[in-house]
Formats: sequence, structure tokens, C-alpha cells
Amino acid sequence: MQRHTREDFQTPRQVARKILKFQRRPRDCATRGATRRDAGDARARRSLRGVGRANERANKRETTRETTRETRRRGDDRRGDDRQRMATVEPETKRLKTEDGEKENVALNTGNVGKARVKSLMYRYYKQFYPADLLFKWLAHGNDERHARAEKTYPSRREFCFVLDKEQEEGGGEIFARYQSFVDAKDFKTNVERKKPARIEFGPICNRRPSDRHTVELKPEERELVFDIDMTDYDDVRTCCKEAGICGKCWPLMTVALKVLDVGLREDFGFKHLLWVYSGRRGIHCWISDERARKLSDEARSAVAEYFAVVKGEGQGRRVLSSTPMHPSVKRAYDGVLKQYWIESYLPTQRILEDETKLEQLLNLIPDENIREDLASEFATSSLNSVDRWGVIERRVQDSLKKNNYKLTGALEKIILWHIYPRVDIEVSRHMNHLLKGPFCVHPKTGRVCVPMDPATADSFNPELVPTVVDLDSGAQTLDGAIKTFNDTFWNACARENIERLTAKTRQAKAEQQSGMEF
Ligand SMILES: [Zn+2]
Repeated sequence: MQRHTREDFQTPRQVARKILKFQRRPRDCATRGATRRDAGDARARRSLRGVGRANERANKRETTRETTRETRRRGDDRRGDDRQRMATVEPETKRLKTEDGEKENVALNTGNVGKARVKSLMYRYYKQFYPADLLFKWLAHGNDERHARAEKTYPSRREFCFVLDKEQEEGGGEIFARYQSFVDAKDFKTNVERKKPARIEFGPICNRRPSDRHTVELKPEERELVFDIDMTDYDDVRTCCKEAGICGKCWPLMTVALKVLDVGLREDFGFKHLLWVYSGRRGIHCWISDERARKLSDEARSAVAEYFAVVKGEGQGRRVLSSTPMHPSVKRAYDGVLKQYWIESYLPTQRILEDETKLEQLLNLIPDENIREDLASEFATSSLNSVDRWGVIERRVQDSLKKNNYKLTGALEKIILWHIYPRVDIEVSRHMNHLLKGPFCVHPKTGRVCVPMDPATADSFNPELVPTVVDLDSGAQTLDGAIKTFNDTFWNACARENIERLTAKTRQAKAEQQSGMEF
């Protein structure tokens, strides 16, 4: 079995502490810096060779990518990320078509929102509704305050990427205008209105303003820790939809992922400031804004993401990396969320055991050939539904376990984990300079706003009820609820802590001054 970061004899908190220790390595040592960069590049190369949806997507993007000569010459840290990311161009100077072939078939009820209609209303949305002030304030993490201890240059060192839709123009497509930076919220808002992006992505806080990249070596210094979970990674366990499609039957897979990760990140890693966001179509994002999370090195980010990578691989190669007995964090997810969801919702709605391919896929996870064959022939002529079939499988495995067939130990639990444990796209979490679409953007295909989600009421979140640009424009819906969720579940506590942090810095400076005077 592949070795990974879970260790059976440590509590989740101990493992988390171990992971977070990465960040205490010296950061400013030149030799170490070089090693870390090399390691980063090697990882990027490995990740390109590896399997996974992120890499497939990356490869697709690779075909559209135009590396500027200048980037190659500088050979900076960002290279690795650039390789696996997306088409990059100098701001507003070059353009290229994206081949990021997102499919048109959105099964979700998108009302009457056509692509053209979304496009025509998009710019008005960013001018009238997009909460630029609030988002910029969050991304400044208190450093926009008029406070003696605020880092005044911090807000302007954040990289933004404006994705500009130039489809209508000759040679058009999407332009990824990277390295945008703004001195304050007003500057950000003005530029959003002027440049009319179709999408706004947030990058890291750099050592210098991203616009200075021609004269200094730009290095990412900190960034929120992010998670991305996408429904397309669940295609082999859905019978209702595939690819970009989602419906009420499969959306709960996302809810389950949110619940499992939310508890794990809070309880095992002690993170407090988690912003969950609907990605506008078929997935969810999480932005972790604790100072400790923002300052994690790439190595530590990878380790945190790997901690949740209990299920790894693709298709038939997908494996559950869970030990027996289960790691406490996996057991908590299993007992608290997964077991109940499997029986009460997943099996009755997805009916995977009545689907020939998915039944075979599930039976293949039973590590005993005789039982597999018996069950396959029994189900070939059975009219039982999926819940009852699962009951048959359970009984058969448990009976065999009673006869000391130890290879079946933990098999039932692993089958459940294989199907419904969160499938995190860990490539997104690994690097602090990975750009990610920010909250409150509009998805160009669905017209829906990427609204924040409240983990406490995740069960009742319905993507079909998320405001679209058409709803907002006509006044049928407002963003009030979404802004309230942002404030109540996330920002209010963050803002309080920002002020506390600044006050603590002042107190510390005074104490240091005083102790200096005593000598
Ligand atoms: Zn579905």
C-alpha cells in the first residue's frame, strides 16, 4: 500500500501539528530557498507526469499556453505553476483562444439564461452588484486599516488575474491578464469597471507589487489555503448526470465533501476562518484565511491536501488509502457523515447496484473472488433495489469475516469511502501562486453567481436557487443573502481578528520599547 501522511497511532491533531511544522523552516536562507525552488519545480514536473483530472486539464491548458520569452529568461518560481496552470499573457497585450473545452450540456435548470444573455449582463453585474469593496477588504487582511502596525504595502502586493472575454473580436478568446494589482478597494473597483473582466481570479501576496515584475524577481509570500472539489471527479459514481451536469440527486456528494472537509480543517488543523463558495456550476471552493494558513509553505500545503486524499487515482485505478482500523479523522467522517448518507440517500437515489457497470465496479472492490462471483450471479437475476442489494453484500461479507476470512477486514467501509469520500483536486491546493476564481464571480455558462455557502445549512443549499445575473438585473433576486452569509459565516470573525492582531502588535512593540529603556 502506498505510504501517505496518515499515521495510525497519532491523533489527527498530532498529524496536523507535524504537517504545519513545515512552515517553521527558515525561509530566507539562500541555499534552502534554491532547494525549495528545485523541489517545487520537480514537484511540478512530477505532477505533470502524474495522473488525475487536474493534470489532464493542465495538459489541455498547456496546448493553449503561450510562454513569454521574458518569463523563460527570468526562470522564476512561478514557472512550475505556470506550466500546470493555464494560458498566460501579458496584460492586455496578447490574446489567445482557450481550448479549455467546457461542455455546453448543463443539466441543472439554468432558467432561461442563455450564454449571450449572461454575457450582455455580466459587465453590468460587475459594475452594479459585485462587492469589490468587501472582497478587497478581506484580501487585505486588516492591512488596509489606518493603523500604525498595518503593513501598508500589503494590499497592493496581491496578484489579481482578470480573465477577459474577447470572443467577439478577431482572433479572440479568453485573455488571462495576470499580475494586476491595486492600491486600494477604489482602485480595484475602478479597474473592474474599466477592464470589464468576465472572471476575476485571486493569486498570492508577493514580495513586491506584481506590476514591478520586470525589475524585480517576484516571489509569492503568502496566500489563503484553497480547496477545490469538482463534480466531474465523481463521474464514475453518478448515474444521474455526467461531466458538467448536476442535479438534486448528485449535488449532495458536494454537500458531503463540504461537511467532511469543514470538520477536518477545523478540528484537526485548528483553522477557524473558512469561506465556502459555490463555484457557479458543478463544484465548491474553500478559502482558508487564518494567518497560519496563509503563511503555509507549498510543502505544508501539499501535506494538508494529502491528509484529505484518502481516495486517490482515476477510474479502476482509484484506491482507498485508508488503513484498518481507520484513521480517527476518516472514522469521524465515516461515522458522522458518510455511513448515513450512503444508506439513506446515495444508494436510493443513485441506484448504483442496479447499474451493470457500477455494480461490477463495486463488486471489484471486494477482495475475495468467490464472494464477488457469487454476488454477481445472484444479482444478475435479482429484482432487488440497491439498498437491499447492499444488505445482501453486507451479510455475505460479514458471514465470511466470522469464518476468519481476514482479507475482508474493512472491505465494506472501504467500498463506501471509495464511492463518497471527498475527492479533492489536490493540485489546486499545493501551490500558493495557483490562481483561483474568487467568490461573487459569475459563471459564464450558467449565469450564476459564485455565492458563499454556510456549512451549517449546507444540506439545504440548492444550486438552482442561486441568483443569476438575469435575476439580479430584473430585481427578482438580490445578493443580500449571499453577502449576509459571507459576513456571518466568515468575514465578521475575520475582521475582528484582524483588529486584534494589529492591537497585539502595538502592545508587543510598546513592551519591547519599554524593556529596551530599562537597560
Ligand atoms: Zn445528477
